[in-house]
Amino acid sequence: MLQTRVIPPTENANQAPLLIKRLLLSGSRYEKTREIVYRDQLRFSYATFNERVARLANVLTAAGVKAGDTVAVMDWDSHRYLECMFAIPMIGAVLHTINIRLSADQILYTMNHAEDKFVLVNSEFVGLYKSIEGQLTTVEKTLLLTDEASKTADLANLVGEYEGLLAAASPAYDFPDFDENSVATTFYTTGTTGNPKGVYFTHRQLVLHTLAEASVLGSVDSVRLLGTNDVYMPITPMFHVHAWGIPYVATMLGIKQVYPGRYEPDMLVKLWQTEKVTFSHCVPTILQMVLNCKSAQNIDFGGWKVIIGGSALNRALYEAAKARGIQLTAAYGMSETCPLISCAHINEELLAGSEDERTTYRIKAGVPVPLVETALMGPDGQLLPADGETQGELVLRAPWLTMGYFNEPQKSAELWEHGWLHTGDVATLDDFGFIDIRDRIKDVIKTGGEWLSSLELEDLISRHPAVREVAVVGIPDPQWGERPFALLVLRDGHELDARGLKEHLKPFVEQGNINKWAIPSQIAIVTEVPKTSVGKLDKKRIRLDIAQWQAAGSAFLSTL
Ligand code: AMP
Repeated sequence: MLQTRVIPPTENANQAPLLIKRLLLSGSRYEKTREIVYRDQLRFSYATFNERVARLANVLTAAGVKAGDTVAVMDWDSHRYLECMFAIPMIGAVLHTINIRLSADQILYTMNHAEDKFVLVNSEFVGLYKSIEGQLTTVEKTLLLTDEASKTADLANLVGEYEGLLAAASPAYDFPDFDENSVATTFYTTGTTGNPKGVYFTHRQLVLHTLAEASVLGSVDSVRLLGTNDVYMPITPMFHVHAWGIPYVATMLGIKQVYPGRYEPDMLVKLWQTEKVTFSHCVPTILQMVLNCKSAQNIDFGGWKVIIGGSALNRALYEAAKARGIQLTAAYGMSETCPLISCAHINEELLAGSEDERTTYRIKAGVPVPLVETALMGPDGQLLPADGETQGELVLRAPWLTMGYFNEPQKSAELWEHGWLHTGDVATLDDFGFIDIRDRIKDVIKTGGEWLSSLELEDLISRHPAVREVAVVGIPDPQWGERPFALLVLRDGHELDARGLKEHLKPFVEQGNINKWAIPSQIAIVTEVPKTSVGKLDKKRIRLDIAQWQAAGSAFLSTL
């Protein structure tokens, strides 16, 4: 360690630890009267929001929640969730955001593994909760969340109903200072193999993440995404990576926030219209769903800025959204990274280039945000050149990465091997500083001794006018090791078979974008592509489905 000059603080000097409570205070200072909205049911000001956070802290404290306890939430995206994102960590407890789309067995596993003491359950999940209640090993008390105050539920050790309890509690709470390295949040990865793994983030990490995210979203002129006059509506679940951290940014800045509850495309469109939403974020499949829903037809979504992350943003979706007035910008991150790692930054050189080139860069994973370091690593731990061509595993350092997987020393050591966080993504890094995610390591298709990016092939296939959705996976092939297989959902009234797809891809082979082995010799036309709990393509399921169809000679298949 370098012998730097460290001067101990003066006695009584307040170091203002980086605590989540400090984010809350600034928002209401800016805009006391600005609103937080829940569906078409409820709206209140930031002043009231602050009081509600204090009321919730009083309710939890009175129910016996202590610093260090883990408090779990099972809810859709709501004002209540936002209140929990503040009140729970602010009393020194740990917020566990439960992925309610996991199977009941997996939810049970995560709750026992996280040692949840107290659970807030939305009435819609009471059935699910009751199915595992008897096997929960650490839960002591429950609290009911409901949109209908008259509703009650037969939950064991129920403290009461949220709104009723808040109304009866004091609107003041003296939130204490404590160590900024205290864990504030935890949740579980949505990996499709093995048990979910618990990641965790401290107050210090979340505060630094919020500041960096706010500076990037608000200060990059070429892709200015979020300012104090915007209206924010998340379309990614709050249980998944803090809804990308944006509720903390929005609250810190006093921005109007709109929480849509359960994702119903028609409700999202209605809220977009009535509340004049200007900024959202979601995974590509959810945006597709919104654009395709009935009430979205004939609507010009002009002025809506949407960050797309969680999966690659392909050009076809970018163009389709643009035609509807939506400005899409890609960003990259993962559960282990809080999540923000990178976001598009169109610099002067790119601004001077063509629109087509700018689009190419807007849909890449982006440039690392301040305080994030990126590198490419080879299998034996050596760092590889960032020359725009060499591919390697993307590895990261930043002040807000999970320091391990909760109670999983072996997996934690693998995550942090050689002192960098391993993303499991294959990428290139170029001269502009852009990260280009080529594929997940386990999804890269190894065909005829070459590596083929399933993401790249999906991008090229999605440009066919008949294609609404596409997923590409590698399937075993006795001659080539693996061959690409494409699963397609077609637009209404369109047709396409393996031959037609080959014709579409041929020019890309001729231009050298892909080699000829990238053309799938077999495809399947389906009505739906399997998705994970957070709306990403579920490639593990897809591989299993294909194997079954092939064994049964299914009619979905079309072969060259
Ligand atoms: P999760 O931990 O479930 O949020 O998944 C994170 C993974 O999503 C990353 O490791 C990437 O494989 C993928 N991902 C996220 N953002 C992007 C992006 N902009 N482009 C391509 N893949 C992405």
